[in-house]
Amino acid sequence: MPADCLIREARIVDGTGAPWFVSDVLLRGGRIAEIGRTIPADGIQTVDARGLYLAPGFIDAHCHDDLICLREPERIEKIAQGVTTLVVGNCSFSLYPTAPGSAGNLRKHFSTLLGDVADDEVFEDFAGYRAAVHRRGLALNLVSLVGHAALRLAVIGHERRAATDAECAQMQALLARQLRAGAVGLSLGLVYPPSAYADRRELLALARTVQENGKLLAAHIRGYEGDLLDSMDEFIGLLQDSGVPGLLSHLQSAGRPNWGQMPDALNKLEQAREQGVDVSFDMYPYPAGSSYILQLLPTAALEGGYDGLVARLAQADFREKLRLYLEGKSPAKGVPPSKVSLIGWENVRISGVSNPGLKSLEGQSMVQAAAGLGVTPFDLLVRLILEDQGQTSIVMFQLDEKDLHAACTHRLHMVGSDGLPRPGTKPHPRAYGTFPRIAGRLRREGWFPLEDAICRMTSRAAERFGLVDRGLVRPGMVADLVLFGDAIEDCATFDSPTQLPTGIEHVLVAGEMVLENGKMTGRLPGRVLG
Ligand SMILES: [Zn+2]
Repeated sequence: MPADCLIREARIVDGTGAPWFVSDVLLRGGRIAEIGRTIPADGIQTVDARGLYLAPGFIDAHCHDDLICLREPERIEKIAQGVTTLVVGNCSFSLYPTAPGSAGNLRKHFSTLLGDVADDEVFEDFAGYRAAVHRRGLALNLVSLVGHAALRLAVIGHERRAATDAECAQMQALLARQLRAGAVGLSLGLVYPPSAYADRRELLALARTVQENGKLLAAHIRGYEGDLLDSMDEFIGLLQDSGVPGLLSHLQSAGRPNWGQMPDALNKLEQAREQGVDVSFDMYPYPAGSSYILQLLPTAALEGGYDGLVARLAQADFREKLRLYLEGKSPAKGVPPSKVSLIGWENVRISGVSNPGLKSLEGQSMVQAAAGLGVTPFDLLVRLILEDQGQTSIVMFQLDEKDLHAACTHRLHMVGSDGLPRPGTKPHPRAYGTFPRIAGRLRREGWFPLEDAICRMTSRAAERFGLVDRGLVRPGMVADLVLFGDAIEDCATFDSPTQLPTGIEHVLVAGEMVLENGKMTGRLPGRVLG
């Protein structure tokens, strides 16, 4: 049990969006006991917070910290940003559930996103994952979505086809067990095979299961390029027909020809809400995205998983067709233009590899790296897929600042870093800077008042994920709190992406200091919630 603590004269930004006010806050038994102007100290520990803002701990509504939470319990770069709760299991990727025989497939599948996953890092179910996190301990809290890929791998494997009725029922049963055990919802990843191979019938069946269990449907939708609006219709239709609440993942309009679509996309969400659809979205505050290198390929290329792709790449005619498609030289009917043709090889940067022999390529664009090796960017792509086992991460400079501003200042927006933690690589800076960037730099640039910024990082996400006793500074709430100064600032950049932010003084999780005077305390009071 954490010691009682009195925080003195903080400027309280309570998470509702209301203007800050100066008050004392008394913490008792890990919760907020009292808020008032002059609370007597009565000999308990006090924190002088004059000149500091006190906000609910930030909630990262979208990240991929599933694996690293098993390996690095302190989660330094998250705590350093004031984050006290993570939402993992996004974009169809979770480390559970498995069925007999599917664990190997799931391990390999997840490895393409974040590097090698060990045998004991995939789990039969949510309870197994939670137990593993608790055994090791964790500085902050975590909630988890069930990844659609894990369900499909457990029931259908890597096959590129619609599920049968029996298979739908099996996936529904497997999903329901995870939701009942405490998973907060289901995540789709409709650009990522095998999630991408699902048809509407399967998605609707799963959405109904989520609805029956009172949970959330999150989706990396089928496309964020020219097909953004149609892909949103598909997702909104699922929400409408199932009655489930939804969170659209990292809303953006990618690729220069598609810039300027954001106002239409936001209107679509408002219209859906007018028709009674409970939908909102998350987005990170940067004009570049990040993913695994396999996202550059058409989904059909991954039929049979990574091994299927490797077998296909051995055929010269497949390789040539793929090159023509990727480089926009053979637009196929009914197939959207490739990402590469929309954004250009020069805007794809290699951010992380597993193979030490390729390490020197990290931080270089595909054009630079290919030139250095005396090959074409396409040949480099094939080489990376083969020599790095498909485990290469990339950063894609693909968004318009105006679209980004429109999304990140919209009333339905909440903050999710979409960080892809991969120690020792040159990742997207969002993993190290998202929250202080919102509360500091962008707020100072006039994107939103501080109170609005904090609301996007706290109560909105708490509500969406059913965290009823977090996300607000109110008596009775769990004391997940962050104290920071006006000069809060993100320091991570695309060239120096792992620099920690400045200006965050103290972070408390359930009333325990995990960051004190800007330094990690090593305490691990976090829990898997749900
Ligand atoms: Zn995603």
